[in-house]
Amino acid sequence: MKREIMNEEIFDSFDRQHLWHPYTSTHNPLPTYKVSEAHGAELVLADGRRLIDGMSSWWCVIHGYNNPVLNEAAKRQIDRMSHVMFGGLTHDPAIELGKLLLDILPPSMEHIFYADSGSVATEVAMKMAVQAQDDPKRTNFATILGGYHGDTWNAMSVCDPVTGMHGAFGSALPIRYFAPRPKCRFRDEWDPEDFEPMRQLLREHASELAGVILEPVVQGAGGMYFYHPQYLRELRKECDRLGILLIFDEIATGFGRTGELFAYTHAGVEPDIMLIGKGITGGFMTFAAVATSARVAEMISSSQAGCIMHGPTFMGNPLACAVACASVRLLLSQPWRQRVHEIEETLRRELSVAESWDGVTEVRVLGAIGVVQTKTPVDLARFQELCVERGVWIRPFGLNAYIMPPFMAVSDEQVVKLCRELLGILEEMGYKE
Ligand SMILES: *Cc1c(COP(=O)(O)O)cnc(C)c1O
Repeated sequence: MKREIMNEEIFDSFDRQHLWHPYTSTHNPLPTYKVSEAHGAELVLADGRRLIDGMSSWWCVIHGYNNPVLNEAAKRQIDRMSHVMFGGLTHDPAIELGKLLLDILPPSMEHIFYADSGSVATEVAMKMAVQAQDDPKRTNFATILGGYHGDTWNAMSVCDPVTGMHGAFGSALPIRYFAPRPKCRFRDEWDPEDFEPMRQLLREHASELAGVILEPVVQGAGGMYFYHPQYLRELRKECDRLGILLIFDEIATGFGRTGELFAYTHAGVEPDIMLIGKGITGGFMTFAAVATSARVAEMISSSQAGCIMHGPTFMGNPLACAVACASVRLLLSQPWRQRVHEIEETLRRELSVAESWDGVTEVRVLGAIGVVQTKTPVDLARFQELCVERGVWIRPFGLNAYIMPPFMAVSDEQVVKLCRELLGILEEMGYKE
């Protein structure tokens, strides 16, 4: 009886009957738990239960929920203007954010395009790469398998064809060139053979390629996979040789998650175009940006159109810019690198016991990312039920059960609990034997 009452508070029947959730069916959708508020690293469910958040709301809530500094920045901006068009007008939040970003982005980045979301940033970057070509035949893209770049049309086309959406959209998607996923892991010794398939692909198709797009070092939603930075150095050299633009999608890796402020630093090579998003507003609201070198901006501006052909309604939204300024400043004012490092140690210590489990293929840790890869996909409905029972929030996809906590808000005890409950749940679901 008690359980049923709790269920009615947490599971809303209107929601179940009328609202789409990400990647769900309207036929018998998986349960969605109602959250009434969130503070620091905790979500509070409608029945008062508290869950430690291991997801950072899809990796973006780096400072935790209800952060007073971000709240204050938003409130101050709301009382001036929450929005104004960016065509022909500008404002201090956009200017301040631009200055802040240019200070921390790769030194060669000089121009910034504000976009509404990560997927839109991917679209903009791909449009820029095409517009920056002299040769009208150079309109296609290469990438590596296992990537994720968003859910809009062109972004889908460069996502992993198996874990991504190629199956559902088939010939509606433009055909891209895919090199194998790099085999050399982040901490492996570099094997020069690893880059050869990409080199061959680029040489064969250079005349039709505008750019190569990939996530540097850490592939996120395409499989939570960490590869060798030398791959990016080789790629940079080859792109330069062939006149192909290099696009780094740092939407997931940006703002400290991997232990560097941006993941390109692991390799020490800079892209021509770089995407940032997710953590840019500390997970406060949707926002993203595309940065380019002066050369790319120059090529676009001397193209036939003479300008970048993109300009969304909410471009440069002052509220998002003001919160992003506060989030970036807050991050830089704290010992984020040390904090990510400490979390990395805890994740490694706590999760590595699962390496020997029968149902587990591998345990991987980099920065504030801890992944337990299982041999078979977990039953998500059951997994989430066990999470809520145990007071944590973790949402696996495919074969990857992972923890990406709000690293500037989570305590060591909370990270330990996340790890122990994750392993406890996997054990209860039969992944140990
Ligand atoms: C999440 C993500 C995107 C898409 O961002 P949205 O804001 O969800 O549209 C693109 N690229 C990478 C690497 C991401 O992790």
